[in-house]
Amino acid sequence: MEEKHHQLLGLTAPILSARVFYPSLLEAPTAGVLWTMPPRFSRMNILHKDARVRAERIVAPDYGEKDPIFEVNHLSLDYPGGRSHPVVEILNDVSFRVERGHALTLVGPSGSGKSSLLRCLNRLVEPTSGTVRFNGYDIRSFDPRELRRRVALVMQTPVMFEGTVRDNLCIRPAGVSGDFSENRLVATLDEVGLESTLVDREAATLSGGEKQRVTIARALLRDPQALLLDEPTSALDPPNALLVVETISRLRASRALSIVAVTHQPDLVRRLGGGLLYLRKGRVEAFHSLEGSDTVLDARLQAFLAGENIASGGGRT
Ligand code: ADP
Ligand code: MG
Repeated sequence: MEEKHHQLLGLTAPILSARVFYPSLLEAPTAGVLWTMPPRFSRMNILHKDARVRAERIVAPDYGEKDPIFEVNHLSLDYPGGRSHPVVEILNDVSFRVERGHALTLVGPSGSGKSSLLRCLNRLVEPTSGTVRFNGYDIRSFDPRELRRRVALVMQTPVMFEGTVRDNLCIRPAGVSGDFSENRLVATLDEVGLESTLVDREAATLSGGEKQRVTIARALLRDPQALLLDEPTSALDPPNALLVVETISRLRASRALSIVAVTHQPDLVRRLGGGLLYLRKGRVEAFHSLEGSDTVLDARLQAFLAGENIASGGGRT
């Protein structure tokens, strides 16, 4: 079946897998979106048939400067489980705020719900109960496409589409306006520390760190107010990871971006500043403000900042 699709669409395997990532990468799922692609992808138009999503297309309200960028209240998330546990509790009564232009880092054992929580912030996952407010408004009142433009997700593994860096930067849903001129592409590459000559390079030939910086540039071209980073450096070797850490922390300051990050890198956390939240079994177990006192009261956060690995250690068991 997959093979048949492959032939039908004339796509290469990486592109097929990239298709799977479209919703999280760009901004779908939305109703009837026609994607603007480089010409060779023109058969890849994605038409979402979910009528429920269609019904939710509400005009995005504007925001009040005084509101925090994110306000999460009593968020809980269940996934359907197996026979013995029909419901698996993933997040339980999670509440926090992220001030505009500031950062929050989520840490905790693997499986503790960090990625799920991040995805609740731009409606890639719908919580079972509780609310997420963005700029003072319940995120359910936004057009999901518009929300995902404003709240861009960068994942652990950079997803590159077939074609040049330029193709990869310009990819967007049809009808999405914005400045995708050569000057802006080059300026945005410069912002993420990449040479202008890279625009004509085949994206597949880039290093992991360069690819990750192209995905960040792709998000920046849509003028997001917030970035969600899900372990953005975990797939990179230390020198590349450092370059990405430097890029992200520089952008937070230069663009006054609000950032919610999941990372195992203490140096990224320190550079981002803001808050550090420890999640375990879907619950907030500790919080520390990196902008307040230097004394970290929680031993696990202390250990994390000292470089100890807390990725393993019984997320949900
Ligand atoms: P983390 O990012 O902290 O490692 P995740 O948010 O990815 O944690 O996962 C939290 C828990 O939710 C894990 O036990 C995982 O298996 C489970 N989970 C994640 N996505 C789904 C899903 N779509 N359906 C059912 N369970 C899921
Ligand atoms: Mg995760």
